[in-house]
Amino acid sequence: YQLDHFVIPGHYKDDVESILIPHGLIVDRIAKLAQMIASEYDNERIVVCCVLKGGHQFFSDLVTYMKKALNKQGKAVPMTLDFIRAKSYDNDRSTGNVQISMSEEELQELKGKNLLLVEDIIDTGKTMKKLLELLANYEPKSVKVASLLLKKTPKSCGYVPDYVGFAVPDLFVVGYCLDYNDIFRDLDHICAISEVGKIKYENN
Ligand code: 5GP
Ligand code: MG
Ligand code: MG
Repeated sequence: YQLDHFVIPGHYKDDVESILIPHGLIVDRIAKLAQMIASEYDNERIVVCCVLKGGHQFFSDLVTYMKKALNKQGKAVPMTLDFIRAKSYDNDRSTGNVQISMSEEELQELKGKNLLLVEDIIDTGKTMKKLLELLANYEPKSVKVASLLLKKTPKSCGYVPDYVGFAVPDLFVVGYCLDYNDIFRDLDHICAISEVGKIKYENN
């Protein structure tokens, strides 16, 4: 999409290369995903767990639509909202070691629950694989993953989430809460970062 057809904050004008997914399209897709997800659950409560920080805006919009959606029995879906932090990136490279922060007490409460993890993007898939391995130790009843984006990349470890909003090309994308060193979360559209942007906000 052409950059000047959409509102981009002035402070990011030179820092994005192109708009891959405009905000309106993201929200429409999430409305549909919410209906699909809800329709696959029974009357049991779902623990909808946001993978921070990148998953925050997707989580927020997804929950908004899931509140209006109906389950298999045509009823509203009872949800508990939870948060977990997973950190693996420095600049635009996966560091390979994934830091996960949730208290032991909170993790133990997941036993027997239907867990829905809400993530921003699956790239190599290593972060999610690691997170799923960790969570399996706490014996949830079921675990599903909704990722807004799935990157088409040869570096993929083969992991595919249960629900995907959009496939994206093998570029570093920012916006809609996806960051580059914590920058660009305040951009509504999903964009490809520019070389200028990469250099400007590089972590040294
Ligand atoms: P993976 O372990 O699948 O390689 O990477 C997963 C995490 O890395 C994502 O949750 C996200 O935080 C970050 N990540 C991977 N690719 C991108 C990208 O293109 N843009 C941004 N902003 N983060 C990414
Ligand atoms: Mg993430
Ligand atoms: Mg990040």
